[in-house]
Amino acid sequence: MFYILCPYCGEHREEEEFHPKGQAHIARPADPENTSDDEWGDYLFFRDNPRGVHHELWVHAVGCRKFFNITRHTVSYEILEVYKMGEQPSITAESLASAEKSQGVQVGDGGQQTVGASDSAAKDSRGTKV
Ligand SMILES: [Zn+2]
Repeated sequence: MFYILCPYCGEHREEEEFHPKGQAHIARPADPENTSDDEWGDYLFFRDNPRGVHHELWVHAVGCRKFFNITRHTVSYEILEVYKMGEQPSITAESLASAEKSQGVQVGDGGQQTVGASDSAAKDSRGTKV
């Protein structure tokens, strides 16, 4: 079971209070009269199904009844962030991938710095172990 932080209520509540409403950030075509059938079909029916970071629309159905967005990892089910309607996610698949790459670089650098036994490396290793 998820415990979801409603960004409007400000409380962690049980998943049963919420309903998922599908992929977030689906924009209705600005000019429906001049939208092709393919574009309209994409808008109505086709959704992303990523393995990894996914932005989802949820509603706090039994609480404040407001819609909000969740960034969730589809493999681990971990909720990475919650944000209100109209806001943009701070965590995306691209930002998470680059963060993981930079963490890998930091681990490598930390190992080299530990061998050198500089003061900054000692602080870094304490920070990461805690
Ligand atoms: Zn709420």
